[in-house]
Amino acid sequence: SFTLALVGRPNVGKSTLFNRLVGKRLALVDDQPGVTRDLREGEARLGDLRFTVIDTAGLEEATDESLQGRMRRLTERAVEMADICLFMLDARQGVTPADEVFAEILRKKSAHVLLAANKSESNASDAGVLEAYALGLGDPIRISAEHGEGMADLHAVLMPLADAFEARALEQAPATDIELTEEEAAEGEGPLFSRSKPLQVAVVGRPNAGKSTLINRILGEDRLLTGPEAGITRDAISLPVEWKGTPMRIFDTAGMRKKAKVQEKLEKLSVSDGLRAVKFAEVVVVLLDVEIPFEQQDLRIADLAEREGRAVVVAVNKWDLEDEKQEKLAELKEEFNRLLPQLKGAPLITVSAKTGRGLDRLHDAIVRAHEVWNRRVPTARLNQWLTGMLEAHPPPAPGGRRIKLRYMTQVKTRPPGFVVMASFPEKLPESYKRYLVNGLREDFDMPGTPIRLTFRSQS
Ligand code: GDP
Repeated sequence: SFTLALVGRPNVGKSTLFNRLVGKRLALVDDQPGVTRDLREGEARLGDLRFTVIDTAGLEEATDESLQGRMRRLTERAVEMADICLFMLDARQGVTPADEVFAEILRKKSAHVLLAANKSESNASDAGVLEAYALGLGDPIRISAEHGEGMADLHAVLMPLADAFEARALEQAPATDIELTEEEAAEGEGPLFSRSKPLQVAVVGRPNAGKSTLINRILGEDRLLTGPEAGITRDAISLPVEWKGTPMRIFDTAGMRKKAKVQEKLEKLSVSDGLRAVKFAEVVVVLLDVEIPFEQQDLRIADLAEREGRAVVVAVNKWDLEDEKQEKLAELKEEFNRLLPQLKGAPLITVSAKTGRGLDRLHDAIVRAHEVWNRRVPTARLNQWLTGMLEAHPPPAPGGRRIKLRYMTQVKTRPPGFVVMASFPEKLPESYKRYLVNGLREDFDMPGTPIRLTFRSQS
């Protein structure tokens, strides 16, 4: 579970939203005399999501001159306590100088900021919503806390983040060197990650790489786009879609930027969009333009995706423009291996978002990369494999003392992480580690996912 802080200047509607999320349970928290009302905390429900919500609204009735300073300190405290901040604006008033102050605090202090344009139940708030894009905090979610509107959109935005926090919490659980039984290993992650959850995909790439075209085509292929979330259009940050039978949520950075229309902030926005998209995603599709592939920006985002441990699929778009397809493909593969060695084994798919060619293969590569990212290899098989690897190519013996790799086990998935128990692991050369990682990738068929391999000392 996660903690959401409602942040913003007085009277934007934080309390109203707090009350709506917490409902009747509020009374238990709030009505106790003597409890300081500076920060209120409650257990929120939004659809199937359960989380803690913090409200900084307690000061709204305060009248002393130091209100601003206290509000500021309170906000900073709430931001520290929260996993996600929901920055609220009054859409009818647009962005005020006081809002800018809060936006600045959030930009500096919070990793995850969502923007809500409240009181947007009428068209009179359209201008205010547009202004909100200029804050550079992403796509404002139009809500009306008072009328309960926009709650489905809020849910749609929170859900992938909630998943990400769940996954993160699991990743950070201490690695264990207790050997799992094969049964346990075969169970994988268990019910936390039920297969029915939509696969979270981000399409990232430079402006004009064709992200919008690709996403529109994917949405166009979803003949089944109905059901409870059908009302969620491209206004939302993530789009539910059933693509070729696979439920997905696609993080739409292109749509966000198109609406921003703030040219001078384009670069800044696209970098932060990319970051957000990568954090949200399970699979990151790095979309390249065949006419200008592997630009700095492409390399940076691909590298980021790898470091964040996401599954990566590289798609080369506008393939319809290419005449010498064979030669070009060989050239791209060579460049890819040279420029992005850390993504070795990631699939490179050629597509045309415009004509639709190659999209079957792209779909399959995404599903495959996701599956591999989630994979768990049974410990017995791993150790058989390790024995073979050691025989084929024994580790070096610096100073006459052979480094012994005794035994290994997979300690996590998403992406797969392995621990090897070894004597003097600090002496093991990088080249030997690469030998093992490449071997794992090939022998267990794990393309398109980062593999984490760590060594623990055991003499
Ligand atoms: P975005 O900024 O990444 O969202 O890029 P867009 O989807 O807006 O596409 C930029 C331009 O490239 C538009 O003029 C598209 O029509 C064009 N485009 C996108 N995909 C393809 C493709 O597969 N082939 C060709 N020839 N043009 C494409």
